[in-house]
Amino acid sequence: MVADHFTHVSDWVFDLDNTLYPPAARLFDQIEVRMTNWVMRELGVDQPEANRLRSTYWREHGTTLAGLMRLHDVDPAPYLHDVHDISFDSLTPDPELARHIQALPGRCIVYTNGTAPYAEQVLAARGLSGLFDAIYGVEHADFHPKPDRAAFDTVFTRDGLSPKRAAMFEDDPRNLAVPHALGMRTVHVAPEALPSTVPTDHIHHHTDDLTGFLARLVNS
Ligand SMILES: [Mg+2]
Repeated sequence: MVADHFTHVSDWVFDLDNTLYPPAARLFDQIEVRMTNWVMRELGVDQPEANRLRSTYWREHGTTLAGLMRLHDVDPAPYLHDVHDISFDSLTPDPELARHIQALPGRCIVYTNGTAPYAEQVLAARGLSGLFDAIYGVEHADFHPKPDRAAFDTVFTRDGLSPKRAAMFEDDPRNLAVPHALGMRTVHVAPEALPSTVPTDHIHHHTDDLTGFLARLVNS
């Protein structure tokens, strides 16, 4: 039974975007437009170049912001405020998910590469406010993003979390490598499992239904 693999878990760590809401809500479409516009405006480049820079930074530095900070000395706070200034109208409350998160034994935290204030807005729109013991954003890791080891170390140390007694739920498989190495139970949350060509040794479980997966862990 899948629940047998989680009996030792007392700390439940959830990514935010495309994990605590379905990718069909397409919030990232809005954020990506704002990131591209920001790069065009602040770096004085055209749209194709802005998109090329963004994809290069995402691939080589983990996020657009990480590349902007390392290569252009960008101040992260105003950038993060700007790109997360989006509409949450596509999100709907999910009482079933709320019920199953609430039923988990131990502490639940959110750890996102966005910011904590942004996470609060997303959680409110999903009816998940108040369910988490802590909410960490990229600002809590000195603006180092997942998947950097240093980012996880900073946030988990700050939280006091013991990775060997923790589980991580995440849609980006890159962000499960360090949690796995730290001894966490890892769950890939995404509509599709990864293709067999992608290394998945660091992923213990895949689910396309977070609510259903959590329901199997606890009798609730
Ligand atoms: Mg995500």
